[in-house]
Amino acid sequence: MGNAVELSSADPTGHTEDRLKRAAQSLPLSDTTDFDDADRDFIAEPKPGVVTNANGKAVWDNDSYSYIQGTCPNSVHPGLWRQAQLMIKQGLYEVVPGIYQIRGLDLSNMTLIEGDTGVIVIDPLISTETAAAGLELYRQQRGNRPVTGVIHTHSHVDHFGGVMGVTTTEDVEAGRVPILAPAGFVEHAVAENVFAGIAMGRRAAYMYGAALPRSAQGQVSAGLGMTTSTGTVTLIPPTKDITETRQEEVLDGVRIIFQMTPGTEAPSEMNFYFPDHRALCMAENATHTLHNILTLRGALVRDAHVWSQYLTETITLFGDKTDVAFASHHWPTWGTEQVTSWLSLQRDTYGYLHDQTLRLLNQGYTGIEIAEMIQMPPALEKTWHTHGYYGSVSHDVKAIYQRYMGWFDGNPAHLWEHPPVESAVRHVAAMGGADSALRTAREAYDAGDYRWVVQLVNYVIFADPANADAKALQANAFEQLGYGSENGTWRNFYLMAAYDCRRWRWW
Ligand SMILES: [Zn+2]
Repeated sequence: MGNAVELSSADPTGHTEDRLKRAAQSLPLSDTTDFDDADRDFIAEPKPGVVTNANGKAVWDNDSYSYIQGTCPNSVHPGLWRQAQLMIKQGLYEVVPGIYQIRGLDLSNMTLIEGDTGVIVIDPLISTETAAAGLELYRQQRGNRPVTGVIHTHSHVDHFGGVMGVTTTEDVEAGRVPILAPAGFVEHAVAENVFAGIAMGRRAAYMYGAALPRSAQGQVSAGLGMTTSTGTVTLIPPTKDITETRQEEVLDGVRIIFQMTPGTEAPSEMNFYFPDHRALCMAENATHTLHNILTLRGALVRDAHVWSQYLTETITLFGDKTDVAFASHHWPTWGTEQVTSWLSLQRDTYGYLHDQTLRLLNQGYTGIEIAEMIQMPPALEKTWHTHGYYGSVSHDVKAIYQRYMGWFDGNPAHLWEHPPVESAVRHVAAMGGADSALRTAREAYDAGDYRWVVQLVNYVIFADPANADAKALQANAFEQLGYGSENGTWRNFYLMAAYDCRRWRWW
């Protein structure tokens, strides 16, 4: 039954174009420092920008993003467009002599530190294929150095999955290649990626949008990186746990001083400092985006308060001794003053969100309400790296509410609601049936109230998943919301849902 749903995506409406024009006017577009930093000390790029697996299937294809250049199209938020232009830069870069980065060969960066006899790998990407390709690119330029150590900054898969692309279990077990990781690394890698892994994997497909068409009306990055690679994921248990702040280790002649940061971006995470290079590795605790307090793929909620406190500690421990800071996503920041400013603003962002959410929840507002009320201060608005390309003010505020108050908002009308399908059937009946509900939704669409459209039409689809008119309208509305999103993961969620509305058949 039902008519076929149009397969191609909707063009942006006048309402969406207006929303994007207004957004462009509020952005600090004259500040182009990030483009200089992202290009700085470029050495070489892989040609083509594609990594394949043993069967010849592409597991990473940066060339598919070639449409991301020039003027921002009318179907993309200008802030996200700019972020994507920075992140499609791909290749081997020098951070300082002796420290190199592979960027744009996966969602994350792989950093290479040259030691007395070989090279230490920090965070070998998601897949063995991309990690091996990154190491190969490095070796073409810097010589065939053996890997003499691996450091995992934290317990997320984009920081360990490619480990067997740079070393082997035999070398690790024989003691030739030590693997350092923060205490609790394996336990949390398993807890966060395996226990609820199937559900998270499904949501991650929406969040990163790896299956979306690559076009101006499709995937335009995930905010943190372009997307995730789809190769072989591996794990080798660490041979040495880092347990204490100020702990010092020497790896292949390279001195490293650690700062433990549990409960920040990951339950098991650490920053570290290279005194001989005056270089600071910020793991994923400071990047060029507002990060997630609760990632949309699902995770235990993080602690914005602890996160901001650890960043203060980083500044105290290493700030005045640092010439360059790099992270496992995005491009480095050079200059002692610039590093301190970057870390301070990142710190202030998490601290502000935490404190303001608490202030307002104590006044009786719920997470959904606070997310609409919070105004970021001008200093955080006019800075690029505090904008929400990956995390967002909206979903971070709800996460902070959740951390303190849980799922229940205190209103007993929400204590024992009908579950989604039963609720949808009753809502549609109360609205006078599906046709009547869709009439109201079409009026809202014409008025540009896409948030209301998707709420209403969601009931119609949950009550009758075969309603093709509902799915067509819902796909259009999801696309308008996606085009309007500064956040890459929001855009991907909306566009993947639209993609599914246009293609799924239940009958
Ligand atoms: Zn990461």
